[in-house]
Amino acid sequence: MRNKKVTDTLPDSVVIENFDKFLKDNGKRRTPERSMILESALEFSRQFTVEDLVEALSNKNFIVSKATIYNTVLLLVEAGVFRQFSVENRSHFERADNVSFIHLMCEHCGKVKLVKDTNFMAYMNARRFPAFTTSYYNFTVYGVCNDCARKIKQAKRKRISDKKVK
Ligand SMILES: [Zn+2]
Repeated sequence: MRNKKVTDTLPDSVVIENFDKFLKDNGKRRTPERSMILESALEFSRQFTVEDLVEALSNKNFIVSKATIYNTVLLLVEAGVFRQFSVENRSHFERADNVSFIHLMCEHCGKVKLVKDTNFMAYMNARRFPAFTTSYYNFTVYGVCNDCARKIKQAKRKRISDKKVK
């Protein structure tokens, strides 16, 4: 379930076409590395780090330097395909076209779940701030996922029963 694709985004083929156009407009070449990095990045249905991408590419036996991956991801941010933001001082990336989702982030395992709330999004889209022009927003709710909550509960129970044994 974790890898289930979010359907409310642009089709991947359109994103790839847009990136191709961006490369052409900026006098850059479409290299096999750039294409492969973009394809792998699009497979993430949630936020990812450059390290996640390095791992995904090496799982496909595609050997490319971390520097190339990092530069390509920055190029994808420049092209407006992905958005960069930081979580606990680490750079995370996500598709720029999935703004209609609220991100639920588990503070224990870092897993992010996307949920849709059309009322909230309608409110945010209409919201204007004084002396400020919004380019995009990213709404993250921090908490504990069910898997972690269960583990924490089990660990607590085990500690209590260990104490009883003594
Ligand atoms: Zn968790």
